Amino acid sequence: MSASKLIRLSKSHIGDAEKKAVMGVIDREYLGMGAEVQQFEQGLSDFFGRPAVCVVNGTAALHLALQACGIGPGDQVLVQSLTYVASFQAISATGAIPVACEVNPATLTLDWRDAEKRMTSRTKAIMPVHYAGGVGALDEIYEFANKHGLRVIEDAAHAFGTIYQGKRVGGFGDIACFSFGGIKNITSGEGGCIVTSDPEVLQRVQDARLLGVEKDTQNRFSGQRSWEFDVSAQGWRYHMSNIMAAIGIEQLSQITSFKDKRVKLANLYLTELADVSEISFLNHDYDELMPHLFVVKAKKRENLRSYLLHEGVETGIHYKLNHVLSKYKDTVHLPVSVSLYNEIISLPLHLDLSSDDVRFVCNKIKKFYKLC
Ligand SMILES: *Cc1c(COP(=O)(O)O)cnc(C)c1O
Repeated sequence: MSASKLIRLSKSHIGDAEKKAVMGVIDREYLGMGAEVQQFEQGLSDFFGRPAVCVVNGTAALHLALQACGIGPGDQVLVQSLTYVASFQAISATGAIPVACEVNPATLTLDWRDAEKRMTSRTKAIMPVHYAGGVGALDEIYEFANKHGLRVIEDAAHAFGTIYQGKRVGGFGDIACFSFGGIKNITSGEGGCIVTSDPEVLQRVQDARLLGVEKDTQNRFSGQRSWEFDVSAQGWRYHMSNIMAAIGIEQLSQITSFKDKRVKLANLYLTELADVSEISFLNHDYDELMPHLFVVKAKKRENLRSYLLHEGVETGIHYKLNHVLSKYKDTVHLPVSVSLYNEIISLPLHLDLSSDDVRFVCNKIKKFYKLC
């Protein structure tokens, strides 16, 4: 290996403030869901301009959002095949069937024209995935959903901090679900949230994250415990802990600098690789979105990946298509997604990456294409 250090694809970025906040929770010895979770939810609600409910991870957020919409066995949910398996698992966890759809090749976001062809009388919802932080033509997805009376559960796991048409993603629309997993735009060391204005969905997800114990959230946030309670729906052990929320609060307070840094690195990739004809970019608006991944389409993708790894640069493929997995395999043909899958490569993007690191990666890419 010619490079002295491995340039990582992604990583967490944790400072002294987060460490101190975690120690504070540990010192106070209330580790479960209490004051810090309430404070993090308040911070998120201020950020989005409407209520947010915290849960243990982004997959749980999607699962609870679907369940709260009454989606269950026999129902179908339209979703792109090119997504993390979390989107599919959250749908099948309710008993519903994920219906794999194509993506728009320019943005790798859900192609609603393709989705429309896959609709049946059992289609209840659509789950657009905000790929790499970009939302594509989200307004068209909403028009399509309204026309057919579908719920929209946005898998916004990549898009914390993204602005769309002057509005914050999560701050508008039906339901948006975010992930605070270790490498996402902000982290609470795993974690996630559901954001919506629908009061019924809010009440259902609040109860369902605490085993269905009705009003347990309200009791905990006023310092009480629910000794006397009722349960009328299936719930899960999906609440967030104070330790997680303490990290999340500190990360949220740095959102502006985190976004600036990610945008700057993405723009540097765009400049440095602009004249490499073997590489093409996604059609994303890098002034508005908060990039979670930096994905390009590359000629000779597999050879490029091995070459970069040999030169000390880790890359990724986001994602293995879901409709080819044993659990979700069916007879559906998605030629657009299959061909895109062979071209996409995710280049390193995280908060500890320097501009020199990005230039190093780009120079290696240029060298690779000159060699072959
Ligand atoms: C990370 C992610 C999720 C799930 O979030 P977790 O917090 O890891 O459960 C869902 N969808 C997509 C597209 C993701 O990248």
